[in-house]
Amino acid sequence: MPCGQPGTEVDHIRPGSDHSLDNLQLLCHACHARKTHAESRAAWALKRIPPKAKGRPGTRSEPTPDVW
Ligand SMILES: [Zn+2]
Repeated sequence: MPCGQPGTEVDHIRPGSDHSLDNLQLLCHACHARKTHAESRAAWALKRIPPKAKGRPGTRSEPTPDVW
């Protein structure tokens, strides 16, 4: 247990539908809520921020040929 509390909730170590025993762990309610919250935030951030969104808004991003 990360916090030393007795585990009362079953958590998936890797998010998904893997219900095998080595993907399950017991967490207390507080730790489980925090982990679930962090995972949903991470998923949200992945959806919201595309990997290549570094250009300024309004500027057209043309591929610049650096090798002629
Ligand atoms: Zn805990």
